[in-house]
Amino acid sequence: MVEALVIGAGPAGLMAAEELARAGRRVLVVEAKPSPARKFLMAGKSGLNVTKDQPPEAFLAAYDCPEKLRPILADFGPDAVKAFCRGLGQEVFTGSSGRVFPVVMKGSPLLRAWLARLAGLGVELRSRWRWTGFQGKALTFDTAEGPETLRPRVTVLALGGASWARLGADGAWVPWLAERAVDVTPWQPANMGFVVDWSPHMARHFGQAIKGAALMAGGLRERGEFVLSAKGVEGGGIYALSRVLRQGGALTIDLIPDLPQAEIAARLSRMKPGESTANRLRKLGLPPATVALVMEWGRGMDVAQAVKALPARLQGPRPLDEAISVAGGVAWSAVTGDLELKSLPGIFVAGEMLDWEAPTGGYLLTASWATGRWAGRAAARI
Ligand SMILES: Cc1cc2nc3c(=O)[nH]c(=O)nc-3n(C[C@H](O)[C@H](O)[C@H](O)COP(=O)(O)OP(=O)(O)OC[C@H]3O[C@@H](n4cnc5c(N)ncnc54)[C@H](O)[C@@H]3O)c2cc1C
Repeated sequence: MVEALVIGAGPAGLMAAEELARAGRRVLVVEAKPSPARKFLMAGKSGLNVTKDQPPEAFLAAYDCPEKLRPILADFGPDAVKAFCRGLGQEVFTGSSGRVFPVVMKGSPLLRAWLARLAGLGVELRSRWRWTGFQGKALTFDTAEGPETLRPRVTVLALGGASWARLGADGAWVPWLAERAVDVTPWQPANMGFVVDWSPHMARHFGQAIKGAALMAGGLRERGEFVLSAKGVEGGGIYALSRVLRQGGALTIDLIPDLPQAEIAARLSRMKPGESTANRLRKLGLPPATVALVMEWGRGMDVAQAVKALPARLQGPRPLDEAISVAGGVAWSAVTGDLELKSLPGIFVAGEMLDWEAPTGGYLLTASWATGRWAGRAAARI
């Protein structure tokens, strides 16, 4: 009989497996995809941001449910993440914004070292094992060798959210848990781009980044950059405000945040009368894509005001599958403080499949690891 089963070999599942193995349990990890942690490896393609160097309260405040995560992140927060990476031979550094990255920037060396450590602890990993639901008290799987059933003593579900389905997390499990009286909050995209219905002349600026702006929505102000694309706008600056924007907040952009509006107005007034607006914007030092954006969204406005508070015309979020992460998932009311499902004792949940949301900046991986560790430790006590 399998003693401890972990379903899903992402950051949360692998962390749960490690805790179970360290507690002396025989652990089997099953993974639907042919190889583990595909989203983690994808995350490393643009610089693996593992955590954020912040005091505990500021770090917690980035999440939409800080009180639920408080004990879990107190147990495994930014310092623990850094120690974890170093323990796997990956030196980390803190960038100017407080974001922490491995020096190599990518995730593959860390994952290789981690998988080797897990194998050394006796953790068995079987890929191409897709969990397909329940049959009575047993869990059923589709595997390369045909259907299988398992009745482990304890199980940790770490199936991820429901974005970037091609990397494995497809949310297919929602009805199976709902049938077993587990409340699942509907998915919504998080850290996603927004649709813009551009005029044709914007096409030549697609792929260009708008840098150094301050983005404002719902009383929040974030410095960050974003990229113009055929689909709309995306990138860190937008993601940081995506929760507020999804809830209907209006986005305005300060394109020269270090100069007050009066100073910009004074500089404009010293320019030749009759000069075109585009030329005046260029003379303020704005690059071509930024000039085009002001012409697109600020038409008819006072130029200084358009530069300081450009109203973005967003047509709603890009689809769930394109989002970096999700809001929604297994409701906190469905789990105990140990992350055990109330209606399915012996089954724990961890990672992005739980209902928490945070901006990018290392918060996602930190909470995935922390909840994996929390659930794994609790499962090991059974
Ligand atoms: C492009 C991109 C960039 C990102 N960059 C960052 C970053 O820099 N910093 C950061 O903090 N976060 C980042 N994230 C988010 C981060 O990768 C996720 O939050 C994290 O991977 C979630 O971990 P998890 O273990 O909960 O889920 P996942 O990593 O999604 O793992 C879940 C696993 O479960 C498996 N699975 C699902 N269903 C089944 C089933 N039925 N049977 C068996 N196995 C199943 C999946 O195949 C998958 O391997 C990024 C995400 C994306 C898409």
